[in-house]
Amino acid sequence: MERVRIFDTTLRDGEQSPGVSLNAMEKLQIARQLQKLGVDVIEAGFPITSPGDKEAVSLIAREVKGVVVAALARASALDIETAWEAIKEAESPRIHTFIATSDIHLKYKLKMDRETVIERAVAAVKLAKKFTADVEFSAEDASRSDLDFLCRVVEAAVKAGATTINIPDTVGYAEPEEFGEFIRKILEKVPVMDRAVLSVHCHDDLGLAVANSLAAIKNGARQVECTINGIGERAGNCSLEEIVMALYTRKDVLPFYTGIKTEEIYRTSKLVSNLTGMPVQPNKAIVGKNAFSHESGIHQDGVLKERTTYEIMNPRLVGIPESRLVLGKHSGRHALKERLLELGYELTEEQLNEAFVKFKALADKKKEVTDQDLEAMMEEEIRKVPETYSLEYFHISTGSTIIPTATVGLLKEGEKLEEAATGDGPVDAIYKAINKITGLAPVLEQYSINAVTSGEDALGEVVVKLKNGFGKIVTGRGVSTDILEASAKAYLNGINKLLFDYQMKGEKQ
Ligand SMILES: [Zn+2]
Repeated sequence: MERVRIFDTTLRDGEQSPGVSLNAMEKLQIARQLQKLGVDVIEAGFPITSPGDKEAVSLIAREVKGVVVAALARASALDIETAWEAIKEAESPRIHTFIATSDIHLKYKLKMDRETVIERAVAAVKLAKKFTADVEFSAEDASRSDLDFLCRVVEAAVKAGATTINIPDTVGYAEPEEFGEFIRKILEKVPVMDRAVLSVHCHDDLGLAVANSLAAIKNGARQVECTINGIGERAGNCSLEEIVMALYTRKDVLPFYTGIKTEEIYRTSKLVSNLTGMPVQPNKAIVGKNAFSHESGIHQDGVLKERTTYEIMNPRLVGIPESRLVLGKHSGRHALKERLLELGYELTEEQLNEAFVKFKALADKKKEVTDQDLEAMMEEEIRKVPETYSLEYFHISTGSTIIPTATVGLLKEGEKLEEAATGDGPVDAIYKAINKITGLAPVLEQYSINAVTSGEDALGEVVVKLKNGFGKIVTGRGVSTDILEASAKAYLNGINKLLFDYQMKGEKQ
């Protein structure tokens, strides 16, 4: 059995998903969970792209230990110096530098000839090497590059000191058999590759990212770049949970192992989905809501008789909590603490007190509080920003023959503020009333509603994306048994985040 390193780029490529924007604290939360999950490398960001990104990378480098922290940089001195600035305090820092090698990128994007590309690559690796021994070099758009030229670049990068060589399928164009062959040829044609780890980075434009990565592993790749839930540019990246579970489940034909603690997969998936505001499709392999549910009677009967009749993996293995009824109105603080611990939430005494108050309020509305309810409640808790405004009450009058009108009361530092407004519907009316009170009017980019659990007293979860005048997008989330209340809470959560951001950056509203 050979080890395959897992390089997670959720915080870099994943964060480049359209509509996703994470603040530094959210990135740190994800990085901590990735460390718990057992990834080998966390690519924390692309520091040259913005001061905010650089700051987030530094924070992760300082706070998260026991894992390699990488920063991305183009093959230019300023990029590399900025990347180093950001990760220099990491326990194990890695600079990841890249330049394109395909003719199409050379001609239209870089406007450079092949010899210049080699010079730049060598100079970049040598400069990075001055800062850290751990240097990764990527040949962007490698899968569409001329093989002989690509091999020359790879050889030069290894000789300059690169310890990992990454071969990306940047545009998701490769086909598994062809890509496997491509990897094998690179290893054959570049003997110095015995000094470096070969890595792949596959995109999912044709839905082949995981298949291509597996083909590469079979042909000698020993690092895979991937993201949680497969998020990333366009159709996304190779999904971490899929590649890891494929290796785990099919050891018989894939004699490789990773350092991933599979029981942490589900929790990581939930955290990333919640913080990015990108829902996981129900039929998504491994972590989708339906991944382990059996609908057909024949299947259900089979699974009840013997699980392995229709299940190739135990859901427990990826950390999916069993959906059994747990707590109710009469459950005490101790029972809640124990259950939350089982779900992976270690709380301080103070946090437990807060969680208990919320739990009691929830148990008053719902007869049975399930694991999913608790997770929804805790996710609201962990994504907390200071509550500049909190919801005191709202009244709605609506119907098919009257104009929906909302009266909303908010609390700000103990002071009660009230306004009324009309709108196209009850949610719109509530949002307009909140705008009047806060003096903010962000654009509502997205509104979605989901039932967290089933049944009449199910918890509804509303997720909104709000955009301010600077183009900054935040995700707000609210949970309640009442969808209008969940809508109001989600909107306020977004507004509080925007205000928190202004405070952090000293920007004016
Ligand atoms: Zn990518």
